[in-house]
Amino acid sequence: MPHIALVPFTGLRVREQSMRELGMSLPGLSTRATEIAHLPALGLLTLAGLTPDDWTQSYHESATSKSLLVDSIIATKPTVAAFSALTASIHEAYDVADEVRQAGIPVVIGGLHATTCSDEVRQHCDAVVIGEGESVWLQILSDAAAGTLQPVYRADAPFELARSPLPRFDLLPAGARPRMTVQTQRGCPFACDFCGASRLLGPFRRKPVELIARELRAIRQVNGSRLVELADDNTFAGGGDHSELLDALAGSKIKYFTEADWRIGLNQELLKRLALSGCVQVLVGIESLVHVHGGMGAKASRIEQMMEAIAKIQAHGIAVIGCFIVGSDGETRESIDALAKFIIDADLADIQLTLLTPFPGTALYARLKKQGRLLADRDWTHYTLFDVTYQPDRMSACELETAFRELITTVFSDALVARRSRRKREIWKSKRTV
Ligand code: SF4
Repeated sequence: MPHIALVPFTGLRVREQSMRELGMSLPGLSTRATEIAHLPALGLLTLAGLTPDDWTQSYHESATSKSLLVDSIIATKPTVAAFSALTASIHEAYDVADEVRQAGIPVVIGGLHATTCSDEVRQHCDAVVIGEGESVWLQILSDAAAGTLQPVYRADAPFELARSPLPRFDLLPAGARPRMTVQTQRGCPFACDFCGASRLLGPFRRKPVELIARELRAIRQVNGSRLVELADDNTFAGGGDHSELLDALAGSKIKYFTEADWRIGLNQELLKRLALSGCVQVLVGIESLVHVHGGMGAKASRIEQMMEAIAKIQAHGIAVIGCFIVGSDGETRESIDALAKFIIDADLADIQLTLLTPFPGTALYARLKKQGRLLADRDWTHYTLFDVTYQPDRMSACELETAFRELITTVFSDALVARRSRRKREIWKSKRTV
């Protein structure tokens, strides 16, 4: 029987020891990193769901060392190994792929980085997948079984989400997972210039609600989990009637987190239904206090309007993680200090801070490249969201990095993390009375 080894390289990467130590010492930061690290690799589990029954499959999460991971893959004697990796983890994937291939096992690599940098990725694998894997998966398996893998598999058309299989949650290693993931849609109607996830894998599409309900049932059966993170880019941005989706979520009796933009706070009816459907937290991109990114569309607004909307979301018992991107054009030492003050004063249940990162394939990457502002000495391992990778327009790269570290040290202080945690508990408590 042919066998496929599925190997995700997901989660946050922290390159520098000093940053790692800082992250570990700031509980508010390390908690979120741990949550992300434990999210299942939904893309590969979905491909596993499409795999015919005459294949056996294994799922290999990052081990404590490269050699343990390589050994675990080789031990299954796979017909082919399928890797998915993000930009910051692509060199790790290359290292493992190189060793697995030396053992005579063909490797296929897909994901956002492979989609945008396919020529580079091809140097480290037998086949690269450009675009959505579902569209070419059966062909890859058939070619792998026949020993005729092609160097490139290109998804020529967007995959119809109505054909989505049930992800193979059962392949996940046994043991508690803090959160499982379900995708209800793919893409985003907006096109923020720094965002690759929204466009690189096709236009905005919704998954039929009955398939979402099936996945929620499977999670409860396989994993017993009652906590789900919707792996969507911006869940309600597509407009229209969300009743069916919210009914399905409510019917599943789970608690869930998702990503949305501040405009959901303008819709009282949606907020009421959202709260009743089990939504406990939304991540809202406030992005920058000094710069409006291209492509943000109706999401761009005055900060006062966003905060009013966020207050309404939280008044419905839904905690908001406010997301800020540091280092956009116009950023200065003073503006970063002003951001620290803003965050200290803001009524947010949680925060997420990252450095602006020009991922390949984004409009931001193209612009900075054209302007000669990408730092030549920063390879993909720097594309972590915590390292400066380009020349800022009003600071040196070193000044930005220093100011960012000071910012996170300030806003993730024990006292502020404890205050936000208290606020989050208050918000959740108030939900019972909404
Ligand atoms: S709204 Fe969010 S998901 Fe959509 S393009 Fe912007 S950053 Fe990406």
